[in-house]
Amino acid sequence: MTATLIDTHCHIDAYNDPVSVLDQAAARGVQIVAVTEGPGAYRRLRTRLGRREGVHVALGFHPLRVGNVAPYDLARFFRLLPQTSWIGEIGLDFSRSGVATKKQQLKVFEAILSDPQVRTRPLTVHSRGAERETVARLAQAQVNAILHWYTGPLSVVDDALAAGLWFSVNPAMTRSAKIAAVLQRIPAERVLLETDGPYSRCNNRPTVPVDIKTTVRHLAQLWGISSEDAEATISRNQQGLLGRDTTVRSVEPGLGQSD
Ligand SMILES: [Zn+2]
Repeated sequence: MTATLIDTHCHIDAYNDPVSVLDQAAARGVQIVAVTEGPGAYRRLRTRLGRREGVHVALGFHPLRVGNVAPYDLARFFRLLPQTSWIGEIGLDFSRSGVATKKQQLKVFEAILSDPQVRTRPLTVHSRGAERETVARLAQAQVNAILHWYTGPLSVVDDALAAGLWFSVNPAMTRSAKIAAVLQRIPAERVLLETDGPYSRCNNRPTVPVDIKTTVRHLAQLWGISSEDAEATISRNQQGLLGRDTTVRSVEPGLGQSD
């Protein structure tokens, strides 16, 4: 029996043909967390895909979008929060692309983390160039968060593990020599899967959710176990992530609600 695997971070609205990507995932038993970059994108995607089985539309506020949003967007985020079962993509980006909006990003990130509803839903979090700051804030907020496509220092990996955070691994990460040490540092029981598709690449094309199966094979090799055992480990981790608070799955009826 194969376990249901979840691509915990996929930009489904950025593919040319999202429906065929979703059909392919459904045929292979892969579930998708469809992250969004802002409340407007969340509403559109929720209307389009909200009732589709195996797809969880996540309410996001991307750090690189924070610079050009109106103040009412944050209010809109909080109005939509009760109807979502996943939060993402949120986070901090102090790389060259994000450093100019550092202050606004911190304001938005801290506002989101201070809402108690955020503690009852899994979060998928961006941390490029701001790993230490991101992990410190997640630890303080005591949230159930996944560090997505982590590329930061090893010392921060230890802080993240101590804070009970998860790491989601995509196919591009398994090919990176720089990230090999990070992957070695993370215990198998804290690993989840993602693609960040279509923004990461696999076999010279944009990654699709079913590519998480390739990542499982890489992880199995790294862990020195069979692919079946690696799949079982990740499936257990997914249950651990979702089981921390039962309200995670009971908020679905908010579907289609307007803001
Ligand atoms: Zn992303």
